[in-house]
Amino acid sequence: GPAPEVNDHVKTWLSHHGKGVGHYIGGAFVPSSGGGSFEVHNPANDTVLVRVAEGTAADIDNAVAAARKAYGGWSKLTGHQRARHLYALARLVQKRERFLAVLESMDNGKPIRESRDIDVPLVARHFYHHAGWAELAETEFPDHAPLGVCGQIIPWNFPLLMLAWKIAPALAAGNTVVLKPAEFTPLTALAFAEICQEAGLPPGVVNIVTGDGATGAALVAHPDVDKIAFTGSTEVGRLIRQSTAGTGKKLTLELGGKSPFVVFEDADLDAAVEGVVDAIWFNQGQVCCAGSRLLVQEGVAERFYAKLRARMETLRVGDPLDKSTDIGAIVAPVQLQRIRELVAKGQAEGATLWQPKTQMPGAGCFFPPSLFTEVEPASTIAEVEIFGPVAVSMTFRTPGEAVELANNTRYGLAASIWSENLNRALEVAAKVKAGVVWINCTNLFDAASGFGGYRESGFGREGGREGMSEYLVHKAEKSGVAGKDS
Ligand code: NAD
Repeated sequence: GPAPEVNDHVKTWLSHHGKGVGHYIGGAFVPSSGGGSFEVHNPANDTVLVRVAEGTAADIDNAVAAARKAYGGWSKLTGHQRARHLYALARLVQKRERFLAVLESMDNGKPIRESRDIDVPLVARHFYHHAGWAELAETEFPDHAPLGVCGQIIPWNFPLLMLAWKIAPALAAGNTVVLKPAEFTPLTALAFAEICQEAGLPPGVVNIVTGDGATGAALVAHPDVDKIAFTGSTEVGRLIRQSTAGTGKKLTLELGGKSPFVVFEDADLDAAVEGVVDAIWFNQGQVCCAGSRLLVQEGVAERFYAKLRARMETLRVGDPLDKSTDIGAIVAPVQLQRIRELVAKGQAEGATLWQPKTQMPGAGCFFPPSLFTEVEPASTIAEVEIFGPVAVSMTFRTPGEAVELANNTRYGLAASIWSENLNRALEVAAKVKAGVVWINCTNLFDAASGFGGYRESGFGREGGREGMSEYLVHKAEKSGVAGKDS
């Protein structure tokens, strides 16, 4: 497991917050205006970690007011001045990386190897990258202004990383924010609020209000919010799109996916098997861009599935804090139930389910790595996002058929293509409708590269120049005499 002193830090943090953690509004932690709070659980052993405040509409109102008040000063800073703050946040995230990784794994259930080596380093990288954009704001976006107060709502699958994707570009561009973390996983957002305090970020620039969907809906409905940035389910995304229609609010949505993972006959099959492990068993498959639809060319299908099954036998399911764990806990009982129901549906639909003889923990929210083969393209499990460690597989004959199957979805977030023939891979990549296409790799994220979807996977991009422009408005300003050419 992780170094014991790190666990001690987390234990100290939790016991320090034994009476519960408040919202972070205007630079201070405050209880819910309604007095309500709710429990946050560790899904690996169903213990209560701590209680957090239940956000009311009045809490949202206070947070938006604090963000509005801070906006005046923050938006007038030079890019270089904002960059200094973002660098300070990045450095403190790095300084606390072990603590944040353990807290994240306890709250979310993800393996410590992932939170330590992937989530938290990417969080720091995101703040560093956007410090760079803040430095360049005046030269790279000369005719642009920030939007104002941004309401940001995030899911539970990458709690701190999704926070970074939201907060870093917003601040770099000169906005202030009110962020609502997911109800299952608010803890690293609150730890980040402490980092904001320690970094001396001006009060009100970042505000965190905890709560569930009702708290999120109050943020979306608030009249003094200039932009809503949402990551989560397609259903809630649709509701938010409806409720912001007819308002002046700018909106970006990062929603679900059912991303194809295409293996051609000429692929390096061993590399592709490792790719599948990263595509669908990373973070228990609770990844919006998970390669959840495995498309395998007929000629190699049997050989490929045999290799894949052998690899699945070696995956270890268990304690998220154990460094040798490959698959940790599902975030909450309700998600586990949803996975079970969809797997039962797949069996009822006639697909073949295969699971390794993995030793499963006795308690907690766990689900074994699973592979469905002989899946009908029109069946429920081929269409619906399972958001769990379940690969759904079909075979194809020709590249044309592969493209057709790949695009046979209402989503379009990502795709992964495996072939040693790069001409073929590039040709297929151009025809697949997805916001991100990986060739001979998968689930690679970079702060410099815009991430986002086509179709029902949403709109807007996060990361890089595209991501920055989602937090800016073009503003043509000219001095001179009205109506005259200058
Ligand atoms: P969810 O939509 O239920 O919840 C997401 C967030 O929205 C939570 O903070 C929740 O409290 C809040 N929310 C719920 N109802 C709301 C409402 N009516 N108004 C405002 N906010 C509301 O989704 P989830 O179950 O937490 O997350 C899983 C989903 O997120 C998956 O479908 C996955 O594909 C998607 N996801 C997408 C991306 C992406 O970048 N495209 C990234 C991660 C997750």
